[in-house]
Amino acid sequence: FDIRDARMPESEREYENALRPLSFHDFSGQAKVVENLKVFVMAARMRKEALDHVLLHGPPGLGKTTLSNIIANELGVGFKVTSGPVLDKPGDLAGVLTSLEKNDVLFIDEIHRLSPVVEEYLYSAMEDYRIDIMIDKGPSARSIQIDLAPFTLVGATTRSGLLTSPLRARFGINLHLEYYDVSTLTQIILRSADILNISCELNAAKEIASRSRGTPRIANALLRRVRDFAQVKGSGAIDKAIACYALEALNIDRYGLDQIDNKILTTIIDKFKGGPVGLTTIATALGEDPGTLEEVYEPFLIKEGFLKRTPRGREVTELAYTHLGRMHDDGNQG
Ligand code: ADP
Repeated sequence: FDIRDARMPESEREYENALRPLSFHDFSGQAKVVENLKVFVMAARMRKEALDHVLLHGPPGLGKTTLSNIIANELGVGFKVTSGPVLDKPGDLAGVLTSLEKNDVLFIDEIHRLSPVVEEYLYSAMEDYRIDIMIDKGPSARSIQIDLAPFTLVGATTRSGLLTSPLRARFGINLHLEYYDVSTLTQIILRSADILNISCELNAAKEIASRSRGTPRIANALLRRVRDFAQVKGSGAIDKAIACYALEALNIDRYGLDQIDNKILTTIIDKFKGGPVGLTTIATALGEDPGTLEEVYEPFLIKEGFLKRTPRGREVTELAYTHLGRMHDDGNQG
């Protein structure tokens, strides 16, 4: 399944929930983000106040939902989850907001997809813990004010570029999640294996981690698939040999690149001689939205050294040519 697809199969969702860390202690990586959050959470607890609203942004599968749940747990308050597309009408938002208890955490995933009307209502809720709701229609229509319990909104987005400035301005805490390094992903895999009662060698975990596209969600999903191979083709335990066998059989890229990553690189090589080429031009050639390309797909390729941002546009690197087994026909790059 595509990890960027919100419509994840139910079994995958249950599996994810079983592996979700519930406290800062169990959450690996993102050291800076966690360090800051711990201070803010402790301060809010000491003052017995609602934590400031938190905006979490970064690519899918890096732990935004997990962290918001942890924030609620560490604050010792209730936790409610919803998402931008689900909150269709102001009434939906009012329903959720009025169900919150003092200092609860409300998580809104994909907050960049809120409708403008619902977003308007959110402003006063975030600022003054108050909403004005229109009741009745026609001549008896009137607006009533509802006071809300103080609460913390945690908004998550993969596309922070799409957030309106009034909404962005209402978040006191703004945090960006980064891709994970292989050693952190290795720890995450070992922890998951432990929870699932799978024996998994360190070297096998490292192998899976290095192919996980810097993403815990992918790491856990690969662990699950490798476990299947270990059960059917091996002894049940995951060692490096069975991990490599499984990852090859599953056609998992050695660097963790997925189909879209590879398509981006081959498009730049085949259609634009490796670049430099403008972001919008690449996006058009791929039939993708330029913003999604920039915020969701490209950061990993740049971080891993497959793609460069230059003043004249995007350019693939030698690593991309070698990885894709392509010849480089432009002499001036060596
Ligand atoms: P997002 O909301 O950013 O798309 P999630 O919070 O749903 O990502 O995380 C996806 C999966 O990855 C979850 O199953 C969670 O258990 C796991 N995960 C994410 N971050 C971490 C982490 N830092 N440590 C351990 N597991 C993590």
